[in-house]
Amino acid sequence: MITVEDALQIISSTVRDYGTEQVALIDAAGRILREPLIADRPMPPYDRITMDGIAIAFDTFERGQRTFPIAGIAAAGSPRQKLNDPEACLEAMTGGILPEDTDTVIRYEDLHIENLSAKVLIDDVMRGQNIHRCGIDRQAGELVARAGTRVSAAEIGLGATLGCSVVKVSRLPKTIIISTGDELVDIHEQPLPHQIRRSNVYRLQATLAGLGIKARTSHLRDNPDEIRSELQRILASEEVIILSGGVSKGKFDFLPVILEELGVKKHFHRISQRPGKPFWFGESREGALVFALPGNPVSSFLCTHRYFIPWLHQSMGLPPGPHPVGVLAHDFTFRPDLTYFLQVRVSYTPDGHIMAHPIEGNGSGDLANLVDADAFLQLPRGKDTFKAGEAFPLFFYR
Ligand code: AMP
Ligand code: MG
Repeated sequence: MITVEDALQIISSTVRDYGTEQVALIDAAGRILREPLIADRPMPPYDRITMDGIAIAFDTFERGQRTFPIAGIAAAGSPRQKLNDPEACLEAMTGGILPEDTDTVIRYEDLHIENLSAKVLIDDVMRGQNIHRCGIDRQAGELVARAGTRVSAAEIGLGATLGCSVVKVSRLPKTIIISTGDELVDIHEQPLPHQIRRSNVYRLQATLAGLGIKARTSHLRDNPDEIRSELQRILASEEVIILSGGVSKGKFDFLPVILEELGVKKHFHRISQRPGKPFWFGESREGALVFALPGNPVSSFLCTHRYFIPWLHQSMGLPPGPHPVGVLAHDFTFRPDLTYFLQVRVSYTPDGHIMAHPIEGNGSGDLANLVDADAFLQLPRGKDTFKAGEAFPLFFYR
């Protein structure tokens, strides 16, 4: 049995680069950029009018003129116009290009317009106002988003602005999720009194889908020959194999022995934590990684969030970011000498703290409790009383 810290260290040493792929911009949400986004033109690409109103030459206003004949209109999407008479004005629409020989925009709210003439109602006008200057945000060729950024809607919008119809992102590993156990039937089946529906595969599949991984799924019965032949085939074709169940100390927990028989090198088995103690982790000769998670629903869920997701982020090249901490809302006692991942519901204080309210549930089999909680709070080993007000690392699953 190893500690949580050692398990994290070992898993982190197996981080690998699965290369890159080009994806359509809209499919890049949540993925990690592997090329910088560079401005193809100045941003904005022209002096952009930012208010609906009129464009004038400020020198004329400065000399005291307040009424300007309207000589035309500069609409968004029209080529650049020119103010031929410096004592006139052009109507100017937001998003349009600032007409030549104008340098100032006055909004309709500050004008009275009658008979094709605009009267300025205010004196407080500044040269250059209401114009978003060409290139002020970024010059052409300048960096807009760096490689290693996780793509959000903000980057998607930028990519569209820059004309990136496809972007280069980290490729995701080919992954399969496999449940094990003779007691399990699928969702559309009616379980017999001694059976339950398999939920881990769906919970894990949904978690991975949120990370961009379209994992395949499979099921293995508690039959050593079947497990051996199926795993042999799967090990040859997948890059990441996530198993659930069959790694504890029961008479039908065949996975650790069979995985080693198939040449999967064990990196560790069992972590001094609750839930999720029986976690087995190894690597095949061909380099496939095997995350063999305990079968209990809360255990496999915790291990996915605490170990698999950080491993995936590292493998995708996402730089480690700040990690949230939660402040324990009530005193809490946990006596076993294990790191305890306490399920908590989260609230926020007006001064910006995250409060973690224990929602303990009935152990690692209580999957209904996951609906009432939001996150796991990592309580360290070496003490058994945790006081209200103490802060600990928080792992959100919502
Ligand atoms: P095991 O690790 O195989 O001993 O399983 C531990 C517990 O988790 C048992 O009560 C199993 O029935 C349960 N379990 C295993 N796999 C699943 C699953 N896919 N969905 C729901 N419960 C499961
Ligand atoms: Mg089992």
